[in-house]
Amino acid sequence: MSEQRDEVIAYVGLGANLGDSPQAVRDAIAALAATPGVSLVQASSLYRSAPVDATGPDYINAVACISTRLTAPALLHALQAIENTAGRERPYRNAPRTLDLDLLLYGDAGIASPDLTVPHPRMGERAFVLLPLREISPGLIGDEDLQAVSLQVVEQLGSFE
Ligand code: ATP
Ligand code: CA
Ligand code: CA
Repeated sequence: MSEQRDEVIAYVGLGANLGDSPQAVRDAIAALAATPGVSLVQASSLYRSAPVDATGPDYINAVACISTRLTAPALLHALQAIENTAGRERPYRNAPRTLDLDLLLYGDAGIASPDLTVPHPRMGERAFVLLPLREISPGLIGDEDLQAVSLQVVEQLGSFE
């Protein structure tokens, strides 16, 4: 897997709404921490949110801050491998999923390739991303960012629920 010399701080959004979703998110955080070239800096609490533009069970969400030597495409590849191990399928857009890992931020990089857009283009519309992100990195998210998503109901759970 391709590596670069300097460590980069990156943020990963996690979501699951099929099966034992809290366990899937916890397992994914452990899998991230165990990925060569990735160290876990901090994981948020677990959050619960209703599906957006979709039906199905509530989502369990979290955000993880990592430090990584992987390039952004290599990191995306590693995230997809973790999703696949969890049995992720993509029958249609916004389908319920056992595990979804989105690369939210990769240092201060702006990336626009066919397979990867960073910052994640929809993160600013999503309370289930902004709230856990602010929990672990308050300086990244301003009050005005949260006001934009203030009508969305997202419940913070304990880390061990
Ligand atoms: P959304 O991106 O709106 O959260 P989703 O997570 O359900 O939707 P997926 O089916 O998981 O969408 O991913 C579709 C494609 O998005 C992937 O094949 C991947 O190449 C691409 N993609 C682009 N930018 C990113 C990113 N920052 N993180 C993860 N995947 C990305
Ligand atoms: Ca997603
Ligand atoms: Ca995704």
